[in-house]
Amino acid sequence: MDLFPIFTSLKGRRILVVGGGAVAERKARSLLAAGAEVLAGAPAFSRGLLSLAAEARVELLQEEFNPEWLDSVWLVVAATDSRELNRSIAQLAEEKRLFINVVDDPELSSFQVPSIVDRSPLVIAISSSGTAPVLARRVRERIESLFDHSWGALAQLAARHRSAIRSLRPGLQRRRQFYDWLLDGPVASKLRANRSADAERAILQELSRPEKAPIGEVLLVGAGPGDPGLLTLKALRALNEADVILYDRLVSDEVLELARRDAERIFVGKTPGENHHATQMRIHDLMVRHARKGQRVVRLKGGDAFVFGRGGEELEHLTAHDIPFQVVPGLTAGLACTAYAGIPLTHREHAHSVRFLTAHSANRPDLDWKSLAQPGQTLVFYMGVSQIVDLQSQLLKRGRAPDTPFALIENGTRSQQRVLTGRLSELASLATYHSFVAPSLLVIGEVAALGTKLSWYGMHINHLESSEHDNQFRRPQDRTANIAHA
Ligand code: SAH
Repeated sequence: MDLFPIFTSLKGRRILVVGGGAVAERKARSLLAAGAEVLAGAPAFSRGLLSLAAEARVELLQEEFNPEWLDSVWLVVAATDSRELNRSIAQLAEEKRLFINVVDDPELSSFQVPSIVDRSPLVIAISSSGTAPVLARRVRERIESLFDHSWGALAQLAARHRSAIRSLRPGLQRRRQFYDWLLDGPVASKLRANRSADAERAILQELSRPEKAPIGEVLLVGAGPGDPGLLTLKALRALNEADVILYDRLVSDEVLELARRDAERIFVGKTPGENHHATQMRIHDLMVRHARKGQRVVRLKGGDAFVFGRGGEELEHLTAHDIPFQVVPGLTAGLACTAYAGIPLTHREHAHSVRFLTAHSANRPDLDWKSLAQPGQTLVFYMGVSQIVDLQSQLLKRGRAPDTPFALIENGTRSQQRVLTGRLSELASLATYHSFVAPSLLVIGEVAALGTKLSWYGMHINHLESSEHDNQFRRPQDRTANIAHA
């Protein structure tokens, strides 16, 4: 971070604006809006500045720049049209340890004036650190459209009732619940409808109602496979509002980073060799315990909680204990990792269906292996690396063609993503040769070969070409590493 953002109170403080033109006038007006005492110095002044002076709102110093002007002020804005002069003012300001903004000249400035979205008392400031004002403007436009003017009114209302809220809703937890109600409930919608008196009545009514004991809640949230950009808006919001986060091994650090700073984070992942039953019991227990304290618990799982994620069991436990819950779906690895590997799961020329399976089923004779071995369908195996030998032999034994393409996706959607493509007959040996580890997702089926042509993310190791079988697929693109198999 190049610039440290601060919001300053300029009320009653003297600020110097050097310059007498339109830019100086604009700066003077915005400083006045923040309650500053403005001193403007220049040999000549715009009509606007003269009339501000006539209304006694600005003090004018009509002469060439004089270093003594700097003696009585807190901040300096240089808006002259001479870079030379601006530079020497900047130097003098620096010597006197005064912060200075030279308009449109980040190099000479020690502070920048950000773009703002003003919903006073809520003010959002945006800065590109002086490097790309256009970018900051774009961001501002977006934010303008996100927060309509009712947000200002809402913030004013909250400020007006702040002490009542404090005394009637003591404790951080209860207060947060009240503010959530304020933002999401009838008050906000009345303000949006420009019914400020109704909004006022609603807040008073709510504050005078005896408070119910806070009820905690569990949000079962899918975190997606790793790239934080793949979180849903609801998941992001849940992370922002969490009191406690119970997260798994598969949840990436980048995703956790987005959570509310003071949320308690508890790792509940299963470690290899640990008793899975005991881990699961501990998770159940933690969810119930924290929710009963009235906390908002986010149970955060990699991918989607209902896809090989035991989400169902956890909800059954909550129901049995009368704990309310919500479910926020996430992008499951089978969809997201394949998208990042350029594999269209049901490309209509190659597959008519897709099946999500766990590789743990490799040793299950009751599975309909005969149908799984049919061509023209895509199989996506979760938790595959350790079962790869069994999977390969089962499918081959039941008649899936040895030249069926496969893709193994390691660390899908993350910065370390690797994709290995080859033929089913070589699956286990290639995976071992390239040391693929968990988490990896295995795709078997004709569509896996498309990943060589549609690869767009991370590293791709392609062994399809090295196969002796006829290859109906195009050569991989240059950026696809074609590593020969030893
Ligand atoms: N609920 C999760 C799956 C949990 S099972 C989901 O919906 O995605 C764990 C398995 O998911 C891993 O063994 C691996 O096969 C797959 N997986 C999850 N995230 C992955 C990732 N980023 N890259 C590759 N595979 C992943």
